[in-house]
Amino acid sequence: SYDILFIILLSLGFRVIYLTFYLKLIPINIFILDQYSRVAFLCGADEVNQAVKAAKSAFGYWSKMSGMERARIMIDAAHIIENRREEIAEMEVVNNGKSITEARLDVDSARLCIEYYAGLASTLAGQHVQLAGGSFAYTRREPLGVCAGIGAWNYPFQIAAWKSAPALACGNSMVFKPSPVTPVTAVLLAEIYAKAGAPEGLFNVVQGGQETGSLLCHHPDVAKVSFTGSVPTGQKIMEMASKGIKPVTLELGGKSPLIIFEDSDVENAVKGALMANFLSQGQVCSNGTRVFVQKDILPEFVDEVVKRTRAISIGDPLLESTRMGALVSRLHLDKVLFHVQQAKAEGAKVLCGGEPFVPSDPKLRGGYYMSPCVLGDCTDDMTCVKEEIFGPVMSVLSFETEEEALRRANDTTLGLAAGVFTRDVKRAHRVVEHLKAGSCFINNYNVTPVEVPFGGFKMSGIGRENGQVTIEFYSQMKTVFVEMGDVDSLF
Ligand code: NAD
Repeated sequence: SYDILFIILLSLGFRVIYLTFYLKLIPINIFILDQYSRVAFLCGADEVNQAVKAAKSAFGYWSKMSGMERARIMIDAAHIIENRREEIAEMEVVNNGKSITEARLDVDSARLCIEYYAGLASTLAGQHVQLAGGSFAYTRREPLGVCAGIGAWNYPFQIAAWKSAPALACGNSMVFKPSPVTPVTAVLLAEIYAKAGAPEGLFNVVQGGQETGSLLCHHPDVAKVSFTGSVPTGQKIMEMASKGIKPVTLELGGKSPLIIFEDSDVENAVKGALMANFLSQGQVCSNGTRVFVQKDILPEFVDEVVKRTRAISIGDPLLESTRMGALVSRLHLDKVLFHVQQAKAEGAKVLCGGEPFVPSDPKLRGGYYMSPCVLGDCTDDMTCVKEEIFGPVMSVLSFETEEEALRRANDTTLGLAAGVFTRDVKRAHRVVEHLKAGSCFINNYNVTPVEVPFGGFKMSGIGRENGQVTIEFYSQMKTVFVEMGDVDSLF
């Protein structure tokens, strides 16, 4: 019942993907045309209704299975992902433009997440509460129903897994909408769940942009919306969900600080700063793009960061040696390059990079490449320091005292992540205690083991992904009171 046809043409920087996919009687036709990746064919109300109907029907069956039974199917899905690692990773490279090395890590993270929640599926349990006269109450952790997942384009396969794994473990079904810029690999995940034995319609994919997403959010049979994307869209999602009093998980943007103290192991701090800025072409929500360096080590730190940034190998993302592939679209590349120009105009110094990069391979000309950029002489009022650029642009700032660094680090409406490098263990914990961010790193950056909750403070989001706590965001608690005596009526 699966018929996947991909015709991918890359020419003159224009991308044409025609994908016909029949998933559980739901034909999904996508026609993505031109350099702005506008979707010419979207899933409309009919397709969204069919997908939700199929998911609702699957929910009836899936939610009645035991956690152990659900876990077995999820583990089988994880095995399929392991066996198809290379194929999925290559497809992710085509889908998104990131290097094959990183795409493999994304596939591994998706698999580990499914394995982790498979392990938790059978542990869902309530509480027994003893009451007067032998009466008692108990609580049940129950699934929500059909959950909608809406994903961003920077980690397409991983986001689909990070949302579906806890949802399915809790007994929900899911209709997932990937970004129209990266529509392909979520469909592979749907195929994998189905091959692993998931009931028909358990994990459905609908394709499209904001109209399709908003149809999902408003659908009366959708019980929850889990969203990853920008703050402005997150606000709209929350507003739409509020009409039906639906819970939301919002994984939104960031402008995270990385504070490097003079007693740091500078070699590690430099590596951390590169990991905090240049993974996935800098298109990472948790990136530590405001790098605060204590004054005394600033020259040494900057020299080393610039040297290593210049050495990053840019080009064909399918090559093993490549460390930085292409940005996701022409439109986005132009936006990032504009930010560099604006930073220069506002007084920042371009220490390296920040320019379009043309690989020597003629096949890659017209690709959306740029050289990773380090900006020096930055100040807190510059746009590059205040706004999320979502590209390979690191802003370096200098500071003198711990109190000053903390005050400036927290001076933002966002709070997704933060990092600190120091050898002083007391200072490390004191600083993270005061950082207003959901995910903090000490002496490392951008490590996201699936066992650990991930999510933001302030305008960076609500709810968490990964870790045990996420079970609470994909389930609801029912309280049952049991009377062992007679009704003591007031009437
Ligand atoms: P985006 O907000 O433009 O789009 C995200 C998704 O929402 C897409 O699938 C899009 O089609 C859909 N969408 C857009 N408008 C909608 C609407 N009105 N109703 C319903 N759905 C709608 O974000 P993006 O450009 O795809 O991703 C980049 C942003 O995502 C960055 O801000 C980044 O920081 C953030 N992000 C956050 C995390 C996290 O975990 N916190 C992870 C990855 C990306």
